[in-house]
Amino acid sequence: MTWPPLRPELAGIEPYGAPQLPADRAPVQLNVNENPYGPSAECVADIARAVAEVAPTLNRYPDREFVALREALAAYLSRDGFRGSQARTSTTEISAEMVWAANGSNEVMLQLLQAFGGPGRTAVSFAPTYSMYPEYARDTATTWVMGRREEDFAIDLDHARAVVAEHRPSVVLLPSPNNPTGTALPPGTVTALCEAVGDDGIVVVDEAYGEFRRAGVASALELLPAHRNLVVTRTMSKAFAGAGLRLGYLAAHPAICDAIRVVRLPYHLSAVTQAAALAALRHAPELLGKVDELRVERDRTVAWLRAQGLEAADSDANFVLFGRFDDRHAVWQGLLDRGVLIRETGPDGWLRVSVGTAEEMAAFQDALLHVMKEI
Ligand SMILES: *Cc1c(COP(=O)(O)O)cnc(C)c1O
Repeated sequence: MTWPPLRPELAGIEPYGAPQLPADRAPVQLNVNENPYGPSAECVADIARAVAEVAPTLNRYPDREFVALREALAAYLSRDGFRGSQARTSTTEISAEMVWAANGSNEVMLQLLQAFGGPGRTAVSFAPTYSMYPEYARDTATTWVMGRREEDFAIDLDHARAVVAEHRPSVVLLPSPNNPTGTALPPGTVTALCEAVGDDGIVVVDEAYGEFRRAGVASALELLPAHRNLVVTRTMSKAFAGAGLRLGYLAAHPAICDAIRVVRLPYHLSAVTQAAALAALRHAPELLGKVDELRVERDRTVAWLRAQGLEAADSDANFVLFGRFDDRHAVWQGLLDRGVLIRETGPDGWLRVSVGTAEEMAAFQDALLHVMKEI
């Protein structure tokens, strides 16, 4: 028996995490899909003021139901959540009862598995997919089943329906745009999976990168009125330039939000988080102001990589999966030696680069050209 007396299935497992290196070792940080643009001085002052306002009451617990924040998130989603959808078919108003939030959408995901997964139940995703999902399945003792995506990273409906029919999952996890490939799912795929799963489970469309979708690519928010088993998650970490804020949220049927309240920790959103997030939401136009620029830089990066004779996956996110390399680790290391930190993730031979500022992307391109000459 080893000590400490960990659950046997956790023994020897390394904690997950992308390498975090100090700026002097890697001045160009393009590895965790952050927004490279920080808040303005005005926004910083507003956040500081909001936190100062709640500080005198920090001896009290915060609003457990975070009503004001849910209302603000619902208003934001109703107003901006569909941005980019060409043919917005529904005029969905998202109400506060349809919104839930936690410390990052990763915590939202864990809560979903705590409430809807568990022993004797199964969660399904399609590889390549977000690397955290199997960990949440493990931590909640949910059986984990991985289907597959096609060569072009799309989901084949016959395959997906067969996986659902065989395993009867209570949770299906669909990142769209997908991490690490950047692929957005067409509404037909989400609809088909919602229908296949039915009332036996929920279908979670993880739209962490939703705001970066290319023009005309729909959001699964549009499908909410048609499917009570659909959950759409979002985050303030990526487009919203608030990774340090730790605020993720979802939109779903009010009964699903209600069910999560059973498993959430009491007062899981601190008064400081609620105040800071509310202040940041008041600055949504500014914080999201660089999204269009980042989308242009993303498309430029895809085109540039292809012009170098490399493969680059079409992307609806703020990163690009590219390759393929016989020794991707050597490429990753070569870039790091030149101060550019990207991510060694995705299928064999591929690497993922986050979209930064124009200067950062120029540094990435310059470094990659040098590395490709050497390998
Ligand atoms: C980055 C990311 C998230 C967001 O995580 P937070 O906990 O909100 O910071 C969620 N899903 C995917 C697929 C991601 O890549």
